[in-house]
Amino acid sequence: MRDVSRVAPRAIVVGSGAGGAAAARELQGTYQVTVLEAGREFRPLGLPLRWMQRLRNWGLLVDERMIRLVFPAMRVRRSAEGLVHINGAGTGGTTTLSAGNALRMDGPLREMGIDLDQEFDELAREVPVSTAHQRNWSEPARRLFELCGAAGLAPRPTPKMIDLHRCRRCGRCVLGCPHGAKWDSRRFLDDALAGGARLVTGCSVRKVVIRGGRAAGVRARVGMRSVFFPADLVVLSAGGLGTPAILERSGIHCEPRLSVDPVLCVAAPWPGSRQHHEVPMPFVVQRPGYIISPYFDYLSFLFDRRWRRAADGVLALMIKLADSESGRVPARGSRLDKRLTTEDRRRLAEAEALCRDLLVRLGVDPADIFLGTLNAGHPGGMLPLTAADAATLHPARLPANLYVADATLLPHSLGNPPILTILALAKRVARVARAAGDERSRMAKELRIDGKAAIRYSETGRKRAS
Ligand SMILES: Cc1cc2nc3c(=O)[nH]c(=O)nc-3n(C[C@H](O)[C@H](O)[C@H](O)COP(=O)(O)OP(=O)(O)OC[C@H]3O[C@@H](n4cnc5c(N)ncnc54)[C@H](O)[C@@H]3O)c2cc1C
Ligand code: SF4
Repeated sequence: MRDVSRVAPRAIVVGSGAGGAAAARELQGTYQVTVLEAGREFRPLGLPLRWMQRLRNWGLLVDERMIRLVFPAMRVRRSAEGLVHINGAGTGGTTTLSAGNALRMDGPLREMGIDLDQEFDELAREVPVSTAHQRNWSEPARRLFELCGAAGLAPRPTPKMIDLHRCRRCGRCVLGCPHGAKWDSRRFLDDALAGGARLVTGCSVRKVVIRGGRAAGVRARVGMRSVFFPADLVVLSAGGLGTPAILERSGIHCEPRLSVDPVLCVAAPWPGSRQHHEVPMPFVVQRPGYIISPYFDYLSFLFDRRWRRAADGVLALMIKLADSESGRVPARGSRLDKRLTTEDRRRLAEAEALCRDLLVRLGVDPADIFLGTLNAGHPGGMLPLTAADAATLHPARLPANLYVADATLLPHSLGNPPILTILALAKRVARVARAAGDERSRMAKELRIDGKAAIRYSETGRKRAS
């Protein structure tokens, strides 16, 4: 390992999720990187399902926000209309809670001239992705897949960032993989740490300190202390909810364009479904404005009264919606301002009708169908890239040495799994930031040399004159 700490400029990366880990890994070496992470080291939820079920049946699980008591890495908040927002708060960010879906979703970026082919090619070598889980699908998953095919919905097995040799098909992906089979961004974080980066956990960044139009560092809360971390480069990757709040507290305003990809499950009683014991979201139907995929909904199962039945007796289809870009994150506090628009409701109703139809075709009595809790876990879009930013990936309102590398940059809601796209984008942002930093130091060096020459010239000039 090369010791760059004495010679390299300092970079602060805020957050260790998809964007943060990818950026830190890319920057470490050229910079001495310090990753500041608000959460602690990630641990999967250890509680067995039968215990969760017992707690629920005893009526002890009354509010989704209680999950933090047993699972600190999962943060839950509510916004207007009871929409429940979930994100990860620990090393690995929200990637540790993912269902392992690995879809390339850079269409909107490509349309504005951002070509991430090189980054996706690299990711194909770095993140193992496979659809071989198909051979282990449960009977209901197989039948639903066939039904979707017969209905002309073009279902496809979901590419998964899961090492299937290690996967025990426990179905607990969204609670953190207990068997190390699912890829999450801690792998990139570990690479950065192996290269010499530092990690500070339990460190919640409050604001970027801006002096003379440049980011001088960040101020953060570590325990009871307020600590200043100086930096030559600051990269914000605190996620679609964390980054806009930091920017607002730093006096940089974001756009009220929060999108979250709302999720609603349409479920039915189905004895012996085994859905909670297989890789979640085994296949996906991609429709304009939403996707549909089989999914055991832990959130509804634990906290929604309509789901009070045995885990093995429920079969559900998830709708994930590409919502309208409208909503905001407050600079302080946890109350989000996010509502579904009339168009969102219309699209959700269309998707719900399709799910109901599929379940009825499978043999479900329409009267037995019930819904889950409306929730969301893909926040982003509050500092959206525009065509004008295509080359720099650096929105003009940011100081030259302050970058954003996470879902905050996404120009539109995807209604699809975003991890792979955020990884590619964050890699590129880090490269652009590094190149811009190299250019700045080259110019500063030239200025210093020119300055010294000018001083020598004026000194000799004075000498001659005297
Ligand atoms: C249940 C669930 C399942 C999902 N499944 C999938 C899937 O299968 N495939 C997929 O592609 N996507 C999935 N997603 C979405 C995906 O995980 C996120 O969109 C993605 O991780 C976002 O990346 P990010 O870098 O923007 O933020 P994050 O990964 O959320 O990382 C942000 C990090 O910043 C930290 N942070 C926040 N504020 C501060 C602060 N002030 N100071 C310091 N640190 C801070 C957080 O603790 C966190 O570690 C899922 C999401 C959920 C909730
Ligand atoms: S289903 Fe496989 S990848 Fe998911 S948590 Fe279980 S072992 Fe890990």
